[in-house]
Amino acid sequence: MLKGIRKNLKKAAMVFCLCFIALIGLAGCEKRGLLKEAKSGLSQFSATGLSNLKINETNYGTLAYQYLEYIQENYPGRIAGSEREREMAVFILRVLLDGGFPEENLRVQTFQTEENAAPVQAEEEGASFDGGKIIGSSHNIEVTINGESEKTILVGAHYDSAGTHGVDDNGSGVEVLLESALRMCSGRPPYTIRYVFFGAEETGMNGSRTYVEKLSQEEKENLLFMINVDSVLAGDIPYLYGGTVGEDGKVEDTWAVEAAYEIAQKLGLKIQLPPEDNPDYPFPTGQRRSNHAPFADVGIPYVYFEANQWEQGNPAETGKFGTIMHTEMDDLDFIDQTFPGRAQSTLAAYSELLQEILENGLAQ
Ligand SMILES: [Zn+2]
Repeated sequence: MLKGIRKNLKKAAMVFCLCFIALIGLAGCEKRGLLKEAKSGLSQFSATGLSNLKINETNYGTLAYQYLEYIQENYPGRIAGSEREREMAVFILRVLLDGGFPEENLRVQTFQTEENAAPVQAEEEGASFDGGKIIGSSHNIEVTINGESEKTILVGAHYDSAGTHGVDDNGSGVEVLLESALRMCSGRPPYTIRYVFFGAEETGMNGSRTYVEKLSQEEKENLLFMINVDSVLAGDIPYLYGGTVGEDGKVEDTWAVEAAYEIAQKLGLKIQLPPEDNPDYPFPTGQRRSNHAPFADVGIPYVYFEANQWEQGNPAETGKFGTIMHTEMDDLDFIDQTFPGRAQSTLAAYSELLQEILENGLAQ
């Protein structure tokens, strides 16, 4: 009897210890924290009505636009490292979980945002929204769809903003990715697809730099190319960029953007390459203006989707109002009123192109 009690006590102590260790593990693991938070609010998410929206096989951009309306209302001011940015990360996870992605296909990578690194524009011109308390950490969210091959296409978009509504920069890219992920969720594509929602781009590409630094050699070797979707809503013309400037000053590694452009033309999409012979901006690169740059630095080819206006020789975004991103004009109501139908048609064109690339890859 006594022996039995002692045994039970021992057992109880062991269980207690294990629970305690597990709890400490959980508390110290932000990854689980964010996923846990996303999971626990799934019923809340259903109540938004967003989970009833069904993906339409060919109605490109429709779901993306509906999500964008929700972001406009609920997640303005997503400054890197702020509470609002974190809320947006939870929203992205909820959309993915609700859309049927198993938890094991999701990964959250947590990193510290750089000290005092506020988005340039937010600091200079005063952000429209402050984003809430700065908590100093941010997250990359990755979702993987296993394909027939381990060779991987990575599609990325940042979800932080410069203290604005950030529907153009870069709610639009996030929603193109989410719509695409839900469309591809149940199939088995020829290549493995990895969608990455980067945190903290506006503070100097913190998120994508962290992500590339942590890639293993094998992961790098498996990466065929990267598609960066950043600000595809307000600009006058949808563009594709790619290629890097080599040591001899010549642009190299442009096969991915050339192949993507050929597909766009075949589909009859009004997507262009930037103007040639611009001495300040080597054709057809996207310079170092967004998250493709850290990938290009380690030799991974990229295609960069961005709507802009290059006819005057610099990235003016719109002929009518100049730059929309990083200003108070980055607001869905303003963009819709000023350019009726633009948001829908641009989202549709890029979504269709992305789908075609993910289904068939790019010919090298
Ligand atoms: Zn951006």
